[in-house]
Amino acid sequence: MQHSIGDGTTTVLSDNWLPTLPPRLPRLLPYTNPTLPVNVLIDRSTNTWDARVLAYLIEQSDISFIKKLYLPPIPAPDGFLCPYTTDGNYTVKSGYHFITTNHQPDVIPPPLASSPELTKQIWSSSLPPKLRHFFWRMGSRILAVKENFHHRHIPVDPMCALCCNEEETSNHVFFTCPYAQQVWRLSSCPPSFTDQGTNMLDKLKLLFDYLNDDRIPKEQRLLPVWIVWRLWKSRNEVLFSNKVNNTQDVITKAREDVQEWISSTQKISTPSTTTQRTNLMRTQWRPPGRGWIKCNYDASHHEGHVLLEAGMGKFEGRSSVIESELTALIWSLQSCSALGYKRVIFEGDNISVLKYLNNGIYGPWFTHLLSTIDAWKTSFTSIRFAHVKRCSISCADLLAKKAILSPTDWNLFLSCPPFLYNNVFLDNNQ
Ligand SMILES: [Zn+2]
Repeated sequence: MQHSIGDGTTTVLSDNWLPTLPPRLPRLLPYTNPTLPVNVLIDRSTNTWDARVLAYLIEQSDISFIKKLYLPPIPAPDGFLCPYTTDGNYTVKSGYHFITTNHQPDVIPPPLASSPELTKQIWSSSLPPKLRHFFWRMGSRILAVKENFHHRHIPVDPMCALCCNEEETSNHVFFTCPYAQQVWRLSSCPPSFTDQGTNMLDKLKLLFDYLNDDRIPKEQRLLPVWIVWRLWKSRNEVLFSNKVNNTQDVITKAREDVQEWISSTQKISTPSTTTQRTNLMRTQWRPPGRGWIKCNYDASHHEGHVLLEAGMGKFEGRSSVIESELTALIWSLQSCSALGYKRVIFEGDNISVLKYLNNGIYGPWFTHLLSTIDAWKTSFTSIRFAHVKRCSISCADLLAKKAILSPTDWNLFLSCPPFLYNNVFLDNNQ
């Protein structure tokens, strides 16, 4: 059997948990302690594999195998799976349903769902992708602050690690904690950022309105978003390394970040885009019924009778096509939810994926991916999963191919990108 990784607390490095056939332990570097739990390799602030720690403890040749393993955003226990079956089940009825039965879906809608304008502001901002994604996570309430764990009924100490005085909410960490207040006071930013009377969504709006205000010098406009980023890093250092950064250092580093970002963006010239013409034999793409939005995914997504938004993302390679398709679907669900769409048909071209989605069969290989999808389903009032042939989702197919060549990890297009003109035109005129 192969150890399957959820939160990595009960599996140790020397267990057989690498997704190889047969499964084995990863090759450890000479000084790595084999009894360490696997969670030392996980960045707990983002719930992703920590590249720095991986490079420090694991032989380079095995790192790509580890990165293929999907880590659930809502921590789940480690388990076992059979590596010799497609879905990881060794009997038809195994005990892995507990993840789904124990899972308490989040019932409070994420703030960004009610604010599509702000979502667009975040994704179309000139910030680096890591910051766009970070603010989107904050607004979608999936940032790993303790309040968000509470909403998902995960028991954690709710108090802020910096002041130990109040519950750790996003608004508290970034704006109202005495530590954050001191940082903001040292900056020359308007006092409205630390206003106790406004909520996190108001603060996010303020950040992005300020960022887009041309009357303010660029360096000053960029400073607040980098302060928030640095406050997040400081908070994580307190929590995971017991290191408290001096507030003056936080502001100094934020200023350095701003300078670095300005100089790096000045060097890069605008990348040229080429219109790609395709002459595929096409099956008709069908618009959804009245009141519905259609989202085609194929490691990316595209929506609508008229193209509303499109996006593409790059992810760590997964072990199988099904895992890659499920990963793409999760990103599509997150994007549609953040854009505020409530009734959506998700249309993909993989029939096996549809079987898992519609029959509720949970093989251990896909448990974490499918339970993440289940949790996101609650963000929609109506949701359907449908299967179509690849040629009728040519836009999603093309986006998926483009994503591999893209210099950035995520792209959300708020209007039709030139390389999709031809495909969208054909979809609309069939
Ligand atoms: Zn605090």
